[in-house]
Amino acid sequence: MPPKGHAILSASSADRWLHCPPSARLCESYDDKGSDYAAEGTDAHALCEYKLRQALGMEAADPTENLSWYNSEMEECATDYAAYVLEQVEAAKQTCADPVVLIEQRVDFSRWVEGGFGTADCIIIADGTLQIIDYKHGLGVLVSAVENSQAQCYALGALELFDGIYDIDSVRMTIYQPRRDNVSTYKLSKDELYRWADEVLKPTAELAFAGDGNFLCGEWCGFCKAKHECRARAEANLELARYDFKLPPLLTDEEVEEILSRADDLVSWAADIKEYALRQALSGKKWNGWKLVEGRSNRRYTNEAAVSAAVEGAGFDPYEKKVLGVTAMQKLLGKSRFEELLAPYIEKPQGKPTLVPESDKRPAINTAKNDFMEENDYE
Ligand code: SF4
Repeated sequence: MPPKGHAILSASSADRWLHCPPSARLCESYDDKGSDYAAEGTDAHALCEYKLRQALGMEAADPTENLSWYNSEMEECATDYAAYVLEQVEAAKQTCADPVVLIEQRVDFSRWVEGGFGTADCIIIADGTLQIIDYKHGLGVLVSAVENSQAQCYALGALELFDGIYDIDSVRMTIYQPRRDNVSTYKLSKDELYRWADEVLKPTAELAFAGDGNFLCGEWCGFCKAKHECRARAEANLELARYDFKLPPLLTDEEVEEILSRADDLVSWAADIKEYALRQALSGKKWNGWKLVEGRSNRRYTNEAAVSAAVEGAGFDPYEKKVLGVTAMQKLLGKSRFEELLAPYIEKPQGKPTLVPESDKRPAINTAKNDFMEENDYE
């Protein structure tokens, strides 16, 4: 794997700095702390790279013994990813005799973004279409390929290398996110991509590089290192305080709708502030009116072997045997073995009604009132 490095305006953070240009410079002052999720993703990418090289008949060293997060689910995801890429290569051969496959390819899109580079998981170059495939191991956020600025930056970097050598007229970008059963693809013409690069990417990157532009908060704040202390985010969330915590009967329908549209951001912002304040307090910061105390804790055994010996000695069985939960079982068996063995025994009960924005892809459920209205429509 090539060294990843960190650009101020990286492709992976493009969604954030394109929406909120000043966040780029603001994030510079924070250390990169990393996380378990990031470490797991790095392991998964290393395995994907190995599986793909192997599938393409290239030499590759098996990284498995050095992967701290390796498990059968990761093995299966990486194997399926390699198979998916092979399918795409076969499809590319229909239009081009010699498609090129690049794995973990460093791409440079600094023509539009100062210092802009990134590492694309897989690029397939063929006459006609250039394809970018980006593997996502995360479960938390469902990633769409539609207008995905990270993939578009990689595509621009790939065009810098191959436009002119190959006869490329369109670009196809795929997000492969197996743990969410998500394969999302978006295609646009090369001209449309260049237009976006010139009209949106370049001018916004200039603002971001200079530390200019307007703060704008939204979903992308979740990936911002300044999210705990950001004044713009605080002000946007505190703006709801104008409703003065009135309860629904005193609010208009429009006010309830506005609060609903911002409630998730408000909750996640409040959780970020609590986490930040606790971390600071643990490092010695004194918050006026607040103190650190011990949280509640439960009793626990100091020596499990001694406990079971004592209980067995007294004539009791100290163990409980429980079937693993669905997620843990799938992790143990891998997805296909899980399906093969357990499909007849899995059900998905109806979910609890949840209020979501109209843009959500799930179909609306009928409430009792809707049913009643529909019945009367037939009369
Ligand atoms: S928290 Fe959100 S609004 Fe604040 S700098 Fe970061 S991305 Fe911008």
